[in-house]
Amino acid sequence: MCGIVGYIGHREAYPIVLNGLKRLEYRGYDSAGIALYDGEKIKLCKTKGKVADLELKVSKEMATIGNLGIGHTRWATHGEPNDVNSHPHYSNSGDLVLIHNGIIENYVVLKKELINRGYTFSSDTDTEVLVNLIEEIKKNENVKLGKAVQIALNEVVGAYAIAVFDRKKPDEIVVAKLGSPLAIGIGDNEFFIASDASPFIEFTNNAIYLEAVSYTHLTLPTTPYV
Ligand code: GLU
Repeated sequence: MCGIVGYIGHREAYPIVLNGLKRLEYRGYDSAGIALYDGEKIKLCKTKGKVADLELKVSKEMATIGNLGIGHTRWATHGEPNDVNSHPHYSNSGDLVLIHNGIIENYVVLKKELINRGYTFSSDTDTEVLVNLIEEIKKNENVKLGKAVQIALNEVVGAYAIAVFDRKKPDEIVVAKLGSPLAIGIGDNEFFIASDASPFIEFTNNAIYLEAVSYTHLTLPTTPYV
């Protein structure tokens, strides 16, 4: 097991995501990572080791401003626990960034198809295949991120809870799950996501646990970046 946390809204995302990852440590993990959007660009930091190691690395390497953030604790299934294989993972364009708990069983076939179309991979994970599959579908079929996720997941065999956002449309996080748990907290013009409700319990008691198979896009009525 392992964990997912995310936030989009009017608050600073970093403390919510970092504290959320700490609350999910009981689930077990070998690496941790975080991505923030600061209104201009994505900032990403990830490391093998504990959430405390991530916190230290972030304090040395990046500013923590931003109202959109996703964080992950990884339990490696595809590729050894190391910094590169840790989540979040970028798509090749650098626009999409994704976290994933679970397994993409048919990732080898999907990866081959993407390599044939010119995609390159820096990690050994099944997850990096998924984020690029979503990107390829989004470009090829000229659809929005939510639709691209839906189409991509129809091609995927496996179990997952995912969260992904697009730096070009930073008013939404798209989430999906099959098998792995995922809770959504709904606040006032803000959304929280997490593997269980503990990361956002002090902010809202309006929580939804996604059904067995589902996906949704959490889109703010107003973007915090205007
Ligand atoms: N299969 C993915 C990986 O090995 C996700 C593992 C997890 O659930 O944390 O990176």
